[in-house]
Parts: sequence; structure tokens; C-alpha cells
Amino acid sequence: MSNTITMRGSSRNSSPFLYGTEADAVARVLAGGQYGHTEVTEEFEDRIARFLGVPEAVAVSSGTAALHTALLVAGVGPGDEVILPSLTFCATVQAVLACGATPRFADIDPTTVCLEPGSVLDALNPATKAVLPVLYGGRAVDLSTVRPDLEERGITVVEDAAQAFGSMAGTQAVGATGALTCFSFGPIKNLTCGQGGMVIPRSPEEAQQARGFRMLGVTQSQAERRTATTYRVDGFGLRYQMSSINAAIGLAQLDRFSETAAARQQLWRTYQEALQEVPGAALVDVDVDRSVPHLCAVLVPDRDAVFRRLHDQGIGVGVHYPPNHLQAAFAPWRRELPVTERVGRQILTLPFHQHLGADEIQYVATALARALPVGRPR
Ligand SMILES: *Cc1c(COP(=O)(O)O)cnc(C)c1O
Repeated sequence: MSNTITMRGSSRNSSPFLYGTEADAVARVLAGGQYGHTEVTEEFEDRIARFLGVPEAVAVSSGTAALHTALLVAGVGPGDEVILPSLTFCATVQAVLACGATPRFADIDPTTVCLEPGSVLDALNPATKAVLPVLYGGRAVDLSTVRPDLEERGITVVEDAAQAFGSMAGTQAVGATGALTCFSFGPIKNLTCGQGGMVIPRSPEEAQQARGFRMLGVTQSQAERRTATTYRVDGFGLRYQMSSINAAIGLAQLDRFSETAAARQQLWRTYQEALQEVPGAALVDVDVDRSVPHLCAVLVPDRDAVFRRLHDQGIGVGVHYPPNHLQAAFAPWRRELPVTERVGRQILTLPFHQHLGADEIQYVATALARALPVGRPR
């Protein structure tokens, strides 16, 4: 490969990676003529459940829909507070607001960029209904030290595992830990359906509820509905089901997921090694031995200038994320979060996707070293 081609991957921060089998899978569904929630969607649910080692999985239209559905299943509603990090994609916060509940931002651990258990304890109050940890970059969040307090108060843990499909929490798969778990299968996630999400319920009752929400509150099967002159609406719901077209993409991707996992771990380790030569940039640890990494994030001084220098060289740097508590839309729930604010000023995400070659990672690391301010401690 010539240099111009090999350097192209680094121009994008993230990118879907297809194995070539997805197009045929979609073509078969298109020819089949049924594009709603079909047996293909249910096959995808079964395959994901088996992959994770859980009894059931409920497919929905996006990670955001998964979060909204899971929070509703957890009984979150008006008057309730949900504890969550501010350093996440805005979808996490919007899902809380969609339930009419109040987001209560808590601070993070600067080394993992995930919720800090002490900060969760501080945020607990009688209105707390759920804790919503975000598995930043694919890494599991350890809340074991506060779990007894949460259980005692009947507080549900809903995991935003949008970035963590395939990762392990200790010896268990994320999704099989007993937490109500939400995955995203959006375009750039570890596994893509084009667009999609999944709720992993904790019980058959929760699964049933989630299936109602995602289908406009209609729980009868299609077969039942075909034979009747009416249909029954059993409760609140939205059109959140996963199309068979998206499920077909997901099934094709799942067949190759062991390759995806290995490739993403390898890419992250390549960065880890290359960045050893760049002491001015502190790599955010994703616990690569247990995780399928979704991001490669570093903390750097003078981030905006570093971002600009790399961007001007055509390198696809990003910021994941500008803190949500500083967003205008979320101003009513603003509070002081010193660690989040510092990390929010320093965080920079490097190109991370399966089109990257090792030579491009070296190129990014070298460019980063040159872009860092000289002679300043971090
Ligand atoms: C992608 C993402 C979501 C939302 O998932 P969509 O499928 O895009 O709706 C939520 N939270 C986090 C942390 C994400 O990365």
C-alpha cells in the first residue's frame, strides 16, 4: 500500500467496519419483504443472548431507545433522580429526561473516566431511583463498594454499555452481571447493525415489559394480530423495535465478532506501546485484557491547541465528550464536578477503528508528540 492510502484511515476518528457478508444478509431480508420486527430480529436477540450467556435480550431501534426502555422498566419517572456521569454522550442524559426524571451528575475517576463510587455515594438521596454508569471506551465500571447501599435502598443499576459490547466485568460478560444493561449497535459501535440497540433484562417480567414499550404498548404477537379484527394496547410504548434489515447486519457482524474483538484489542495495544514514547499524553486505561475497546482517549495539556494542530494535519481527532453538565440544555442540573471539568478540558480521542494500520497508529503517535506543548509539565 502506498503512503497516501495507508494514511487515510487516520483521517477518521471512527468508522464502521464491514466484513462483506452484511450486504447479502440485507439483500435476503429486502427480498423477503418484511422489514419490521420479524424472525430475523428474534434470531438476532437469541444469538446475542447466547453470546452473553443470558436467558433473554430485547432488541430495540437504538442505544438511546435501549436506555429509555431500561429506565422505564426500572420504574424511573417524574420526581425520581438518576445518578450518572457528565462525561458521556448526550444520549445518556436525554434518556433520563425522556422518562421525566432528574439527572444527578456525579464525578468520575480521572484514570478510567468512569463514575467514581465515592461520588455516587455522595449523590445518593431519597429521590434516587437508579444509577446509570457509562462504560466509557468499553471498560466495565466497578461499583461493588457501593452495591450494598444501592441494594438496601432498592436502587437499580442500569448500565450504559453502548460502548462495551463484548467486554468483560471481572469474569462475567458485560450484560451478564445482573445489571439491567443497554447496548448500542449504532454505526461506529463495537458491533454495528447500522442502527440498533439491545436491552438485557433481569427477569422474564422485565423482558415482557421492555417488549411492550418497544412495540407501542402492543404485546400481542403478529400471528395473534393477523387473526383478529382488533388489537390490544396494554400500556405506554413507543415505536422502538429493531427492523429485520438492521438485525440482519447485526447477525452478520456477530458471526465475525471474535475477529472484531481481537482487532480492537490489538489496535489499542499498538497505541499503548506507541504512546510510551509520548510521555506528555496520558492514556485513559480501558482495561484492555478484559475489554473490547471502543475509544482510544488521552489526556493532554492545552488540548484545544493540540486538537487544532492534529486536525490541521488531517488527523481525525475527537473529543469524547464535552461535559454534559456544561451544556445549555442541561443547565438546570449543573453542579460542580472538578474532576470531570479538568478531564473535559484535557481529553482527546485518537483515530480508533478497524481500518487503521499499525503504521498509521505510529504516525498518529508521532504527530501527537510534535503537537504537544514543549517544556510544560502536564
Ligand atoms: C452511542 C452511545 C449511546 C447512544 O446509542 P445510539 O445507538 O447512538 O442511540 C448512548 N451512550 C453512549 C455512551 C454511547 O456511546
